[in-house]
Amino acid sequence: MSREARGGSRGRGGDELVFVALGGLGEIGMNAYLYGYGPEDGRQWLMVDCGITFPEGEFDPGIDVILPDVRFIEENRGSLAGIVITHAHEDHVGAVIELWPRLKAPIYATPFTAGMLRSKRAEYGRDLDLPITVMPLDSRFEVGPFDVELVTLAHSVPEMSALAIRTPLGLVFHTGDWKLDATPLIGKPLDEGRLARLGDEGVHAMVIDSTNAFREGSSPSERDVAESLAEIIRSAKGRVAITTFSSNVARIKSVAEAARAANRQLVVAGRALHRVIEVARETGYLPQGFKHHDQDQFGYLARDEVVLLCTGSQGESRAALARIAEEEHPDISLAKGDLVIFSSRTIPGNEKSVGRIENNLSRIGCELLTDAGGLVHISGHPRRDELRRMYGWMRPQVVIPMHGEARHLKAQGDLARELGVKTVLPVLNGEIVRLAPEPRVIDEAPVGRLFRDGRLIVPETDGPVRARRKLAAVGIIFVTLCLSRRGEVLSEPLAVLDGVPVATADGDAMLDVVLDAVDGTLRSIPAKGRKAPDLVAEAIRRAVRAAVNEAWGKKPICKVLVNVVESAK
Ligand SMILES: [Zn+2]
Ligand SMILES: [Zn+2]
Repeated sequence: MSREARGGSRGRGGDELVFVALGGLGEIGMNAYLYGYGPEDGRQWLMVDCGITFPEGEFDPGIDVILPDVRFIEENRGSLAGIVITHAHEDHVGAVIELWPRLKAPIYATPFTAGMLRSKRAEYGRDLDLPITVMPLDSRFEVGPFDVELVTLAHSVPEMSALAIRTPLGLVFHTGDWKLDATPLIGKPLDEGRLARLGDEGVHAMVIDSTNAFREGSSPSERDVAESLAEIIRSAKGRVAITTFSSNVARIKSVAEAARAANRQLVVAGRALHRVIEVARETGYLPQGFKHHDQDQFGYLARDEVVLLCTGSQGESRAALARIAEEEHPDISLAKGDLVIFSSRTIPGNEKSVGRIENNLSRIGCELLTDAGGLVHISGHPRRDELRRMYGWMRPQVVIPMHGEARHLKAQGDLARELGVKTVLPVLNGEIVRLAPEPRVIDEAPVGRLFRDGRLIVPETDGPVRARRKLAAVGIIFVTLCLSRRGEVLSEPLAVLDGVPVATADGDAMLDVVLDAVDGTLRSIPAKGRKAPDLVAEAIRRAVRAAVNEAWGKKPICKVLVNVVESAK
């Protein structure tokens, strides 16, 4: 692609610049965006991010991770020129390992993001040879017809890269997740000049983070949080335990420095934190000599000598904090008067599990400090004044609100219009938008969600989870019997009940209710009729469900296996 052509307004022939989200528009999570360039029948694609989300509210037994359905690009994978990852958060990179075999395109990421991806691959033991090209921060490279420039912005993880995507039909600024921070602790401070120069070059479209589009004002700096944490730790009397998002390297650094300033030793508990510390050391965000103790040292340190940094800020039941709160951690215990700081925000959907931990810690007698009670956390997303400044620099013709539920996207869209943006396209997952020429929604792509179920990936709708939800609510009854070819009953029918109450209100065994229904049905069908095993099975199934429903008020799942054998002489 010729650089001279960038910023122009017309592509060759029928070339178009299009955008579609396979995830991330209408939800906070599962970010997966596609930019397409070329004529309708010959588009080349660039994928930006490929993340996961977690089940929320809905009941998905056995599922803890949700992936975007990428069949739209999977079907066109020959035209997928590459996947650029903006940063190392799971909602942007978490689906790469699982979905890459379906996409098979080169991956581009900065050193920390690539390090986190590789470390995760190693941990999950995949012998997957991901073709990751490590790009320097703020570098510029070509992916198919796209001229991509990384623009580092502050966020709650190192090396968050916004993308300036140049095409012959104009420049798109894809913000990724960002905030403005003059003193970010990790990475360079905000470079306003660079953003303003991009704006001067002419930004055709901006696709922008909407997470905090409701919040007025500007985010405090990561340095403010560090100072606040240092003060809290300095004046603490007992033990101090802090939990945070493990990928927040700046926060890890702040806690370590605050511990040192207060003459306390840092103890780290939780695999995810160890993994991040390792990658942060390799990439220079933490000093090679970054010192901390493992959890087995906790018991040897006096109460006023220790700061514990641990995983579990979202209430994860297997993480360190949940086990400490239940007094079941092998090495760590807290006592009355110890302070526990939640240097985090509870992600919607996790309130109950976080609440459970807070209650357990309160029972022990710990003091709790959350972001409602002090400056111990800030979000990594822009508030409205930060958004206004970004619009001021970029002055885009077209805006697509991103990274938000419908209400966040709407708030972003309203703000964009208020600031004079001509074309605002508040689209949702699957809507194919032509950004240029003549921006508008032109088509629809299939989208949806996939579940990670053990080692397999299964569909959301026709997959096994549907049956599991039902099983979880009503249990299951198995009935088995043997018939001869002539329809004689050759053995006593057997039944097994799982997840069904064992006795009725009158104290009768539920098993007897089931077997009586089976016997009654068999007796009601003449031997001739019993020659059709499918019909016998169906009649029994109905009778069992009706009988159990009468006793229980619920209809369990019922499976009847009829085995037809040569009759015994
Ligand atoms: Zn993020
Ligand atoms: Zn995100």
